[in-house]
Amino acid sequence: MRRIPVSTASDCVFCKIVAGQIPCLRLFENDDLLAFLDIGPLAEGHALVVPKKHCELLTDMSEADIEAVSRHLPRLVRAICHGVGVDGCNVLVNVGKVASQEVPHVHWHIIPRKPADGLGYRWNASRYPAGRGEEVVRRIAAAL
Ligand code: AMP
Repeated sequence: MRRIPVSTASDCVFCKIVAGQIPCLRLFENDDLLAFLDIGPLAEGHALVVPKKHCELLTDMSEADIEAVSRHLPRLVRAICHGVGVDGCNVLVNVGKVASQEVPHVHWHIIPRKPADGLGYRWNASRYPAGRGEEVVRRIAAAL
């Protein structure tokens, strides 16, 4: 996994938000996480859910730490949907620079969606040539 060669916890923008050194529009907080509005929202209500413990990548987090954060996602998504009046959200984590992770402190995006809102992925679906899917499964299974 390619890492993001920038911050440590002491110069991490999300650690500073957690510590109250940088302001944010706070939605929810407990011992494990802070949820706040994204400063550059893709849609009204676009929120970030940040573990309080500094960790660069999702893949660096322990299962217990992921569970402590992720079990609050359904409630947060429901509240955001209700609060901004939408029927659904994209919930996503960018893992690594190549996947567009800009801030090297794990965070879940909750992005409210509306019909024809113009957001979306370039979801250029392809197909596996014969035998390739099985080969990909073999490689991933070997790495598990
Ligand atoms: P990512 O590309 O997944 O690392 O997303 C980082 C997100 O953090 C972006 O959507 C930014 O708009 C957001 N962001 C960066 N700095 C702040 C900040 N000070 N307060 C709130 N959101 C921020």
